[in-house]
Amino acid sequence: MDAARLTRSWNLVAAHGDQVPLYFYSTLFLSHPEIRQMFPTNMARQRDRLVTALGHIVSQVDQADRLAGFLRDLGADHRKFAVRAEHYPAVGEALLATVRHFLADQWTDDLARDWAAAYGLVARVMTEAAQAAEEVSPPWWVAEIVAHDRRGFDVAVLTLRPQYLLPFTAGQSIGVSHPAVRSWRYYSPANAPRADGTIEVHVRAAPGGAVSSRLVYGCAAGDQVHLAAPVGDRLTLRAAGSADLLLLAAGTGWAPVKALVEQVAGEGSGRRVALYVGARSRSEFYDADAIDKLASACPWLTVSYVVGVDLARPGEFVHPVDRALADGDWRARQVYVCGSDAAVAHAVAALTRAGYHAGQIHHEGSGAQWYGPAWRTAVRAGTAPDGSGGVR
Ligand SMILES: Cc1cc2nc3c(=O)[nH]c(=O)nc-3n(C[C@H](O)[C@H](O)[C@H](O)COP(=O)(O)OP(=O)(O)OC[C@H]3O[C@@H](n4cnc5c(N)ncnc54)[C@H](O)[C@@H]3O)c2cc1C
Repeated sequence: MDAARLTRSWNLVAAHGDQVPLYFYSTLFLSHPEIRQMFPTNMARQRDRLVTALGHIVSQVDQADRLAGFLRDLGADHRKFAVRAEHYPAVGEALLATVRHFLADQWTDDLARDWAAAYGLVARVMTEAAQAAEEVSPPWWVAEIVAHDRRGFDVAVLTLRPQYLLPFTAGQSIGVSHPAVRSWRYYSPANAPRADGTIEVHVRAAPGGAVSSRLVYGCAAGDQVHLAAPVGDRLTLRAAGSADLLLLAAGTGWAPVKALVEQVAGEGSGRRVALYVGARSRSEFYDADAIDKLASACPWLTVSYVVGVDLARPGEFVHPVDRALADGDWRARQVYVCGSDAAVAHAVAALTRAGYHAGQIHHEGSGAQWYGPAWRTAVRAGTAPDGSGGVR
């Protein structure tokens, strides 16, 4: 396989922009109509995802070793879309037909062989990982919404009870899908694992967002949602040892941070935790009661609220990190940052400028959309090519 040739050919194809996914899905659904129902009803956003990701992955197959972990996660994760081994050849055929179509007279027998071999390798790793995952966990969990609490205009706190225990670690994210929407998005449990297995999630409705709008405005207690296996380890306390913590949360980025605080409370280690919670205005501290309760119950926890834009109080800090850095020197601590991509990027840059080193700053990273944390992990490891922002 000539990897450089594969990459060059994919770049030529990708230059055709939106035409590429359009052709890919038309080919796939025409030749295999039964596959159509596995995709969301509204394909507008999906168009950007699968084929672009596949094209990039296949054209970087020379880095198969570095990609292997990502591909295994992807294969195991795709069980939630009801993807089975027999679907892979159909997708491969549509991908090759797409590349052939856009390369036109630049398509050669050698390229055909390279693309078939590269896709075969990717499909094999993903299929084997999916099979291995069958032994460990179901493809998805059905969960009942046992409480649905609207907090302000666009945020809801949902308590979910999976039919079977869904094991996770504080700081991870889980896939959530509503049966009527059939798209999956990641949300972070806002609690440490509980004896009764319930999971709290904090959802902010993105304007026009398919899943978040449904979860905030179109759900009630008693409804069912589907959950998928937890992913991501960057925000867990695994890497922090027993160090004291500085936690910086903005918006619904408070959710995984709340889980971390609960974990510290549960471990009884006595480590000190400084928490800075940010919001755009005072009314957007949607979980202040819970935060205040934690602060009064935990002597090792200090809490500072940071309002982003508050015209009544000129001079207030915009980001939690700015206020934290003005308050003290936390360089002996492990720092956890969670919020929108912009807030995380700002915090990481400010901490770095202030002399904090990369190993003590924990965040999900910014700049990835296709497959959430699995893709993000690959981006950070340098094994995924690019991506763009998430919403919190
Ligand atoms: C690891 C991780 C953890 C997360 N945890 C949380 C959490 O705890 N809480 C939380 O609220 N969120 C969280 N998110 C974000 C969440 O996963 C979703 O991305 C978010 O809820 C938006 O999903 P959606 O389906 O509503 O929006 P989408 O339908 O994906 O749309 C996102 C935005 O793009 C716009 N859009 C849609 N279609 C198009 C189009 N065709 N062209 C242009 N623009 C378009 C929409 O208007 C919307 O503003 C997390 C994300 C990640 C990666």
